[in-house]
Amino acid sequence: MSLHVQRWGHGYAVFDGKERLSGAFSNRDIALRAQDRMENETAKSKHARNRPCLTCGTEFWSTGLGHRMCGNCRTNCAGLDAQMVG
Ligand SMILES: [Zn+2]
Repeated sequence: MSLHVQRWGHGYAVFDGKERLSGAFSNRDIALRAQDRMENETAKSKHARNRPCLTCGTEFWSTGLGHRMCGNCRTNCAGLDAQMVG
């Protein structure tokens, strides 16, 4: 996977080889930032798989090693944190 930014139409777009992955961006900086983001997502997805939630044991789609709680438990956790702070 080697993403690059090149001119497309009146702006710039992110390409993987000859395949265009993004819409047109009005300037190159924005397109480069989009490229970075896509590369990060690709890197992360290498660690993505179904994992059991640490808290309730339900299998969920985990995007990486730092992502070990299912959506429900994350929401509950955020709620608790807010309560503790308040
Ligand atoms: Zn859970």
